[in-house]
Amino acid sequence: MSYVKGLRCRECSRHYPKEALFVCEYCFGPLEVGYNYDKIKEALTKDVIESRPKNLWRYRELLPIDGKPTDGLNSGFTPLVAAHNLAKALGVKELYIKDDSVSHPTLSFKDRVVAVALSKAKEFGFNVVACASTGNLANAVASQARAARLKSYIFIPSDLEMTKIVGTLIYGPTLVAVEGNYDEVNRLCSEIASKYKWAFVNINIRPYYAEGSKTFGYEIAEQLGWKAPRHIIAPCAGGSLITKIWKALKEFKEIGLLDGLNTKMYAAQAAGCSPIVNAVKENSDIIKPVRPKTIAKSLAIGNPADGYYAVNTVKESGGWAESVSDEEIVDAIKLLAETEGIFTETAGGVTLGATKKLIAQGRIPKDEVIVVSITGNGLKTQEAVIDKIGKPIKIKPSLESFEKLVNA
Ligand SMILES: *Cc1c(COP(=O)(O)O)cnc(C)c1O
Ligand SMILES: [Zn+2]
Repeated sequence: MSYVKGLRCRECSRHYPKEALFVCEYCFGPLEVGYNYDKIKEALTKDVIESRPKNLWRYRELLPIDGKPTDGLNSGFTPLVAAHNLAKALGVKELYIKDDSVSHPTLSFKDRVVAVALSKAKEFGFNVVACASTGNLANAVASQARAARLKSYIFIPSDLEMTKIVGTLIYGPTLVAVEGNYDEVNRLCSEIASKYKWAFVNINIRPYYAEGSKTFGYEIAEQLGWKAPRHIIAPCAGGSLITKIWKALKEFKEIGLLDGLNTKMYAAQAAGCSPIVNAVKENSDIIKPVRPKTIAKSLAIGNPADGYYAVNTVKESGGWAESVSDEEIVDAIKLLAETEGIFTETAGGVTLGATKKLIAQGRIPKDEVIVVSITGNGLKTQEAVIDKIGKPIKIKPSLESFEKLVNA
């Protein structure tokens, strides 16, 4: 039983069949999956969801597959950590970390989108999956394609962090390092996608892939006891995640799983790549592309595909946007580690760094529920902090040597 009605243009609302399409023939707007919410409302109750295994498919009626889920059966349902120490450090009352740094299997929220994309690609009959990636998507596609017995072609900018390259190559995909930035990689991939019959998860399968991000939002609401928080801060690269968290909360309200919705969405970017934040601050919905220069490589998309929708999400929800310098990113990574014992990657530093600023500015009040979206694991971007965390203290293998240290 599928609850998907078909695809719909986000700009002109024209309808399309549920095929591997992604752009409107008439206005070139992006296509989005449309659902039959009346039917979903009957099928998907809190009891039904709570009775299911703790993975992202517990919300399967709201995800765009027709048959049974085949991939990512252990992905999702990451912890929502009540971050008391961090709340105290920031001077706020109630703050949570939605922690996808421990996502199965590749330690970033991209496991969610890939779970949905590969399940859908198989339904469409593709044998090869591919992607243009800033790193985490490469890890997730390479890993999950192996488990799904699919061949994968992965395209990355050649200057990616070593750990993200190793964390891709280990699965044995065809990894192509393009001498250019992500936007150039993406442009090349669009050309390849129009010529080769492959499932490019974030190009021709994008409408389906992007729906996987909604599960991040569903889980926040379920884990807060079927309530939406007042404030959610999310990192933006292409701008899809923040848009889909917002869509998720609106859907939960629509099908009666939330009584009300009073959430403000905040976009976080690195100062060296902040086209979405710039547009919000200039009160414009025109995204001016930038040339990225930041240590937050997973967010380094200068021309974000969903930038316009990310800006609209912020506006519609009454939120705001903030950017942070590379130094602030590192400080925030350390703050999260030292308060909550969570090691996040540079993207998490961006999100927490922006949260800190938004609280200090009074944009986010101190006495309302705040959720910080931590989307990736710090072990993947060790280069960013290696020179800023001190060194182990060397001693001789003797008690004397140790006590010299203790007493020093
Ligand atoms: C891809 C990515 C994002 C941003 O995702 P978009 O949907 O492209 O905005 C955030 N955090 C991490 C760690 C990512 O890898
Ligand atoms: Zn259209």
